[in-house]
Amino acid sequence: MLNPVVAIDGPAASGKSTVARGLAARLNFTYVDTGAMYRAFAWLALERGVDPADRVAVSGLVERVPLALTISGGSVQTRLDGRDPAPFIREERVNAAVSKIAAVPELRERLVIEQRKLRNLAPLVMEGRDIGTVVFTDTVFKFFLDADPVIRARRRQRQGQSDVVAARDQADAARAVAPLTKAADAVLVDATDDDADTIIGKILQICRARGLSAAKVDAL
Ligand code: C5P
Repeated sequence: MLNPVVAIDGPAASGKSTVARGLAARLNFTYVDTGAMYRAFAWLALERGVDPADRVAVSGLVERVPLALTISGGSVQTRLDGRDPAPFIREERVNAAVSKIAAVPELRERLVIEQRKLRNLAPLVMEGRDIGTVVFTDTVFKFFLDADPVIRARRRQRQGQSDVVAARDQADAARAVAPLTKAADAVLVDATDDDADTIIGKILQICRARGLSAAKVDAL
């Protein structure tokens, strides 16, 4: 039997990460941050002097560089060329570059293949932009988290990050391949006013109503 997947998509700084991480902990599922994978490639491109908007150069990088995704401690770690990019992927320059590299189809193809493989290893809560529309179209546990743009921009500021939230959303929604959009069958969750625990509770309830079978959900 296929492992269940809870798909959480939405724009930048919508609270997806906190919600997806908390949900995974409650369910005892593995948390997967797909944005971290695109960020890892953006970081590597910058390190190597590759223009993240240059499709040919980025495709070359995607072909050459060994990528390893491993599960440990309830989440997925990304290694690129044997290095751990985690300490660098929230840098301002990565924020500015990531939507450009994420529009390169060859990168998306490679990452989608790797993301799908993770389902063979564990039940997942996977967050991103195209999880419900591309990566796991077949899951019935699909959510699209949105929040007021002003609140989202403030959230990043509070986190002490300089992030081009609106510009990323625009680029992500406008790209030709896997644009940011709500899947027709995803449940829209407005995260403007509610805290993460409240949202997690709502999502868990819907998952349960849709037949998610996990000891922790059944015990709710
Ligand atoms: O989720 P996060 O904001 O860290 O994602 C960073 C960027 O990675 C997004 O703005 C988007 O360009 C890209 N991304 C994507 N598809 C995903 C996850 C992230 O294109 N599934």
